[in-house]
Amino acid sequence: MSDFPSPEQPKPSQRPVLQQEQPKPSFEKLRVSEVYCPACKTAQPVKEVLGYEDADVTVFHVVCQHCNSVVGQRTISDASVEDEAA
Ligand SMILES: [Zn+2]
Repeated sequence: MSDFPSPEQPKPSQRPVLQQEQPKPSFEKLRVSEVYCPACKTAQPVKEVLGYEDADVTVFHVVCQHCNSVVGQRTISDASVEDEAA
């Protein structure tokens, strides 16, 4: 209930509304997680390297950053890229 002399002063309680931004699904961050490596016998940070690409499928190899063993793979298909990891 204050009488501001300059009406262009932004109110701290009123933030600009962002364009309805949906929260990103958390599985996108999955690539930085640690995976158990049989060679190291412990969980290690992993990286993903491109295995191969097919017409509508991309396969990434999940590689232990410590010893470069392939500890898994992730398949991404164009058709069902939605919530495969859920
Ligand atoms: Zn390893």
